[in-house]
Amino acid sequence: MEKILFDSHAHINEERFDGCREELCREIGESALAYVMDIGFDLESSVRAVEDAAKYDFCYAAVGCHPHDAKTMDDAALIMLKGLAKKNKVKAIGEIGLDYYYDHSERDVQQYWFRRQIQLALQLKMPIIIHDRDANDDVMRILKEEGVFHTQRTDCFPRHPDGGPDARLLLHCFSGSRELARQYVKLGATISIAGPVTFKKSRKTVEVVEETELSRLLVETDSPYLTPEPYRGRTNKPVFVEHTARKVAEIKGISFEEAAAATCENARRFFAID
Ligand SMILES: [Zn+2]
Repeated sequence: MEKILFDSHAHINEERFDGCREELCREIGESALAYVMDIGFDLESSVRAVEDAAKYDFCYAAVGCHPHDAKTMDDAALIMLKGLAKKNKVKAIGEIGLDYYYDHSERDVQQYWFRRQIQLALQLKMPIIIHDRDANDDVMRILKEEGVFHTQRTDCFPRHPDGGPDARLLLHCFSGSRELARQYVKLGATISIAGPVTFKKSRKTVEVVEETELSRLLVETDSPYLTPEPYRGRTNKPVFVEHTARKVAEIKGISFEEAAAATCENARRFFAID
């Protein structure tokens, strides 16, 4: 099968896949998926993501601590994350950010470790993957305060094909407005579209896809969460990214193959995979 898809955000390392990871990965190997970015959400899952990347050709890793788990972080864990970030096939720091919907960690604790991990990514000149739930203003403010959009950072990377800056910042499972998407793209960010774009009540995300230049879009599953239609209700898996890419193609008025190839190329460029 022709390899034309890139799932830019999945948690293959999740314990939920413990009994079926081999089968899951064999299925990916036989599918149209060329690459999967395996995303850590705390220190242990980041270690597992790096192990997965070493084991499976299609798999690359991002390491970081999710805002839910910010309360588990300390200086020693940050040093460990830094060590992991330098390993082979580790291509980003993430997912990191703020989640004011669940508030599983105190907001000041979330913000503190969000900043420390942004600083790590800047120091290592690595892409950043953002989780933002109900925290749009604080996420934007902290990214600006930490200098993610400064020319000092954007000059580390080649200019984006659209002529704008490239801050190597990915808004994972973007759920904001088209205005917010526009602001982020202007600053040099890239937008990742997940399964909810296939849901009936997806007007806002459909508008974001309409608004955003194809070269600034990636697709993802966030497996095992956020299963797209027509499989909503089941455990999500990377091969289902096809359905999100199909929806993006429909919104953009292009073929599935074109949307798949473009988002795959965008992700390869974003994560610097050659
Ligand atoms: Zn995730």
